[in-house]
Amino acid sequence: MKKILQDLPYGGLENLILSLGEKKFRAKQLYDGLMRGKKISEINISPSLRESLLKEYEDEPIKIIKTLTSADGTEKYLMRLADGNIIESVFMRYNYGNTQCVSTQVGCRMGCKFCASTLGGLVRNLSSGEILAEVLAVNAFHGGSVEKRAVTNIVLMGSGEPLDNYENVIGFLKNVSAEGGINISPRNISLSTCGIIPKIYDLAEEGLPVNLTISLHNPTDEGRARTMPIAKKYSVAEILKACDNYFKKTGRRYIFEYSLIANENCDKDHAEKLISLLKGKPCHINLIRLNEVEERSLKTVTEKQAYQFLGLLEKGGLSATIRRSMGNDIAGACGQLRASHLKETND
Ligand code: SAH
Repeated sequence: MKKILQDLPYGGLENLILSLGEKKFRAKQLYDGLMRGKKISEINISPSLRESLLKEYEDEPIKIIKTLTSADGTEKYLMRLADGNIIESVFMRYNYGNTQCVSTQVGCRMGCKFCASTLGGLVRNLSSGEILAEVLAVNAFHGGSVEKRAVTNIVLMGSGEPLDNYENVIGFLKNVSAEGGINISPRNISLSTCGIIPKIYDLAEEGLPVNLTISLHNPTDEGRARTMPIAKKYSVAEILKACDNYFKKTGRRYIFEYSLIANENCDKDHAEKLISLLKGKPCHINLIRLNEVEERSLKTVTEKQAYQFLGLLEKGGLSATIRRSMGNDIAGACGQLRASHLKETND
């Protein structure tokens, strides 16, 4: 695979251009084109520069190969990387703007029992430029530019565990929020993790105040470990300490994702444990009904059960909401679309 130009920050692009014997302003032309989601071959630069870049760099590191549109307006994309690997990304419309859910790895090695992304294990990390290219491609797909963005918010909740690909994810966060680029503020970005504790402490020191989201799914270590192998390594108590430190360092309240799984994590006892664990903490809980995954036996709950559980949490003084599950009709859950695509192409 060739190198990826979107991996470079603006300064790196300038150095590259100078090293190729070109004038500095060419870097700006190139950068502007890339930020508009263009291929190298489409950007208005001299033919000789284009030729030397294309010798070493991918013309199109990511290509949208399939788009599925849900009845609720959510769009899901299958994207092909330059080495042929497939990832997926989702575009959701809200009143305040449009949120894109990006993947950070091809596959995942965290092994959560409810998740389709991890079914085939980890294939490889995405580079920072590949993650950025997901955003640039979808922004351009919706006619967005740098001045008027179609993608206004980002969640790192697609396939992969962002903190298992730490350096590249940090590179992405810096580049996607750089002034002069697509410039999406860290405040409009949420990073979701299953809870890799040391990296949560590292993230608090980066000066990139993204919203921290933790996939909790159960208030106890034993309960969590039933569906999330990471819980055998790090305890709920350690998660809370790391979150409190994150709040202290960034001033950002944190969010817990809690996917409701029948007979697993949403009876009265779970609600009580959650309340004693989280009461008074600067946090919010996002409840979501499990998206059932064909290959997994776990079952979702009814809407009524979800509202009952919400009621218990609210009565106990917690701030919680039921997140609308978007794009269910288009394999909305993590990794479902990629998994079904791989199955089809292997058949
Ligand atoms: N690896 C990261 C981010 C990707 S998953 C993490 O673990 O947070 C994004 C969210 O979707 C996580 O909260 C994850 O636990 C949840 N999730 C995965 N599969 C799901 C499913 N089938 N139904 C509901 N939520 C799911």
